[in-house]
Amino acid sequence: MTAITCKSLQEWVYNLPMEWRILGSYGGSSPTCRMTSFLINGHLALDAGSITQALTLPEQRQIDRIVVTHSHLDHTASIPFLVENTFGEKHGGLEILVTPQVMQTVKLHLFNNDTWPDFTRIPNDFLPALRLRQIEPRQPVAINGLRLTPIPVRHIVPTHGYVVEDSDGAVIFTSDTGPTEEIWEVANQTPRLKALIVEVSFPSRLQSVADVSLHLTPTTLATELAKLTRRVPIYLYHLKPSCLEELRDELAGTRFPHPVEELRQDDTYRF
Ligand SMILES: [Zn+2]
Ligand SMILES: [Zn+2]
Repeated sequence: MTAITCKSLQEWVYNLPMEWRILGSYGGSSPTCRMTSFLINGHLALDAGSITQALTLPEQRQIDRIVVTHSHLDHTASIPFLVENTFGEKHGGLEILVTPQVMQTVKLHLFNNDTWPDFTRIPNDFLPALRLRQIEPRQPVAINGLRLTPIPVRHIVPTHGYVVEDSDGAVIFTSDTGPTEEIWEVANQTPRLKALIVEVSFPSRLQSVADVSLHLTPTTLATELAKLTRRVPIYLYHLKPSCLEELRDELAGTRFPHPVEELRQDDTYRF
């Protein structure tokens, strides 16, 4: 009898939709635009541009892991303040999952005792407030009941998009990228794909800036979306605050191979 109850409870839990709360959906910072960060199922953050700006302190304490797609500040800026805000509150500390190059950058440039204290050794080496865990490209990792797979994309620093799966389906987040191939191939093959979150950063007027910084404009986004053979909801993130209105106008007037809509900051999506 007990076993049946447990199984039913487990099934019920596993059938809950994946919940993505959009803490920040932009590629820059202004009073109304927070930097890229998503809270998945309440405990896992995917990128950390604005965790401490978007969540209350009790909500911040609920986070036990952060997956970081790349080292740029608009995806990492709130980690030092989150560690400080939750210091001493989290048994076992906060875990940051990063690919090898990001691990190097975080150690060298963020928690280096110059930019910010090295919380990987505070209060001591045995029970630090922050633990960095290395994960490998294309190798799935099980985190908080989810499966996350880093897929390399093309950005000016080593960057990985992520396939995030639960027992019911998958969501793909491209992270920052210029024109790329592999993540579209993965998207075309992922079973039960429910949504894609794709970057677009600049209006086409700034195509040369987008090209050198390896970002997308509506022009290159249209070319990228033509690589997708699936029909799933597509949400756009990483619009730059300095050209927001121009970019929105251009997006509204562009015919894409698939319908797109802007990812809404502060909304919670259930997939
Ligand atoms: Zn970015
Ligand atoms: Zn970037």
